[in-house]
Amino acid sequence: MKNNFSLLLLFSIVFSVSGQNLPAGYWTLEKSQAILNKTQISYLSPNLSSLSKEELDAIQKLNEVGKIFQTLYELQRYPQSIKSLQLLQQLDKSLNAPVATQNLLTLYRLNQGPIATTLENKREPFLPVKNELAGGGLYPADATKAELDAFLESNPDLRSSMLHPRTVVRRATAKNIQSDLDTLKKYPVLGFLHADLKKTLQAMKPNPKSFYAVPYSLAYAAPLIRSCQLLNKAAAILEKSDPEFSGYLRNRSRDLLSNDYESGDAAWVTGHFKNLNCLVGSYETYDDQLYGVKTFFAFTVLLSRPTETENLKTALGYIQELENSLPYTNHKRVKQDISVGVYDIVSDFAQARGGNTATILPNESLYSKRYGRTILIRANILQNPEILASSLKNFQVAVQPEQGKDLTADGDFYRTLWHELGHYLGVDRTKNNEELDATLQEDADIFEEMKADLVSLFVAEALQKKGYYTTEQLRSIYAAGIKRVLQNNQPRRSQPYNTMQLMQWNFYLENGLLEFDKKTGRMTIHYDQYHEVVNKLLTKVLDIQYQGDKAAADKFIEQYTKWDEALHGVIAKNIREQQVYRFRLFKFGALGE
Ligand SMILES: [Zn+2]
Repeated sequence: MKNNFSLLLLFSIVFSVSGQNLPAGYWTLEKSQAILNKTQISYLSPNLSSLSKEELDAIQKLNEVGKIFQTLYELQRYPQSIKSLQLLQQLDKSLNAPVATQNLLTLYRLNQGPIATTLENKREPFLPVKNELAGGGLYPADATKAELDAFLESNPDLRSSMLHPRTVVRRATAKNIQSDLDTLKKYPVLGFLHADLKKTLQAMKPNPKSFYAVPYSLAYAAPLIRSCQLLNKAAAILEKSDPEFSGYLRNRSRDLLSNDYESGDAAWVTGHFKNLNCLVGSYETYDDQLYGVKTFFAFTVLLSRPTETENLKTALGYIQELENSLPYTNHKRVKQDISVGVYDIVSDFAQARGGNTATILPNESLYSKRYGRTILIRANILQNPEILASSLKNFQVAVQPEQGKDLTADGDFYRTLWHELGHYLGVDRTKNNEELDATLQEDADIFEEMKADLVSLFVAEALQKKGYYTTEQLRSIYAAGIKRVLQNNQPRRSQPYNTMQLMQWNFYLENGLLEFDKKTGRMTIHYDQYHEVVNKLLTKVLDIQYQGDKAAADKFIEQYTKWDEALHGVIAKNIREQQVYRFRLFKFGALGE
């Protein structure tokens, strides 16, 4: 630390003269500004005035856990992240916070680490750090995939621990083994919960060509023990007023140390909470670019929207009827008490931070089979004014001007909500009782996501007849269904969402739901055709899933992914041209931002 500081003093003398010139490895003002010019800031700040003092106190404790998770997530992705941030903060201070370093601090926040996504969609360090590692901080930095593969090949018994969703892989050096044993000794609770681990580590012969894995609870012992304590404090505060939520927090606090999420997941998915909810844990694997198996920390504090959640529960009363109305035979029994709620985001941390509109967890199939999954609809993202404004513009440049006003804030909200419920309806196994993933393979996601999109649109008419939607809402949901399929670029086949959206777009054009006008470069929506065309496409999708016919699936995808520069290209270009922002940075009122 001392060395860095004197070095920084030198920097500050040399560089403060020129003001904006930073030491080597730090992006110039020009470079950072180019990205920030394309970045929009969105504030999430739901009204917390109806909450009790206990609930507000609990939120504070939870936010403290969130901050710990934020740091853990950055370390999971880049081992050098926190160090590089500290150096940047010192540099910023020593230069009296010029725009150049302030910009880099914003870039760090935006990218949750020292590597930026550029305007050319490339990944590049903007601080003096090494290039990004595919395995982040979860595998040894000096180990190649080939080396790990070979090791796993000759040590198959270590496969399950090394590729476990919540372990860190290490080289079996004497130093690493000793350091892990020291941690176990320092925190007896871990030694107690992971009794075998101590024996295993003690028996291990150091060999730098060998590897072993330790649970996150050991690898991140101090921050997770601190998180456990804070979760228990929040649980104690809410014990009387919200016993089920309090119980969930207590269970989850123990999970963080046992590295086993079953009790917390069960309490989370089956619990009935009052005003608050909280996503706590390490669940999604998107950031593991080496093996795609390691999960990353995420944390969200959510405030329930009781009216919307109640309305939704009423609509869930029709869920079997809606299932029976879908265009296929062999209907199934649907669980009516699906765990689903509509929420405002109070604060997002780590892997959960971003513009995602809904969360469904847990992923581990054993627990989701045993206890179900919970759906969290993120309302203040879905209804965020800046996001809505830019998505409205995409729609408005694509359709006839008089239809541009059909899309309102409700459209995307309900379309997304029923997309999530749509995953529960329709075909879930083939006629031969096989898993859809296993039979349709890489096509499975395309059909599953398209089914969910189409179910959402298909049931809208029936829900309007039942009084759940107004006529205006129905029209807005239909408009949102069209906005959903628009593309600003020709999708790659490896993008399942965009591919299935393009397929819908083409099917709608072919079947007269959409009509393209070459002169204006815009489309007309024929609402009178809407339900029928959706019905026709949904029939086809459900049939392909039920037959489990991979060849038919491939053919159908091939048939409906055509891209015509004179049609799709024109609309894509018009959309691109009106898009001012490429990146979005979220800030949170509950964090004093
Ligand atoms: Zn989906």
